[in-house]
Amino acid sequence: MEFSSWREQGRCRGVDPELFYPPSDEEAEVAIAICRDCTVRELCLEYALTAREKLGVWGATTERDRRRIWRKRRKSA
Ligand code: SF4
Repeated sequence: MEFSSWREQGRCRGVDPELFYPPSDEEAEVAIAICRDCTVRELCLEYALTAREKLGVWGATTERDRRRIWRKRRKSA
C-alpha cells in the first residue's frame, strides 16, 4: 500500500502533529496510545523502519524503540 493511502487511515489524522514529535521519548505516551489502536499501525511501523525515520512516533514506537528493532533485525539477517 502506498504511503499516502495508509496514512489517510491513520488515527493520527487530524491530531496535532507536534504530539508525534515529542521533545523526549518519555513524553511520547499520548502519541503511542493513539497508535496502539490504529488499524494501519503495522504498515506505519514498517514504513518508518524502511525509511529509517529517525524522529517522531511511528507505529507506536519511538526513535529508541526503532533503533532496537533495527539492531535486532541486523543481527538476525
Ligand atoms: S500508527 Fe500512529 S503514527 Fe502511524 S498512522 Fe497510526 S496513529 Fe499515525
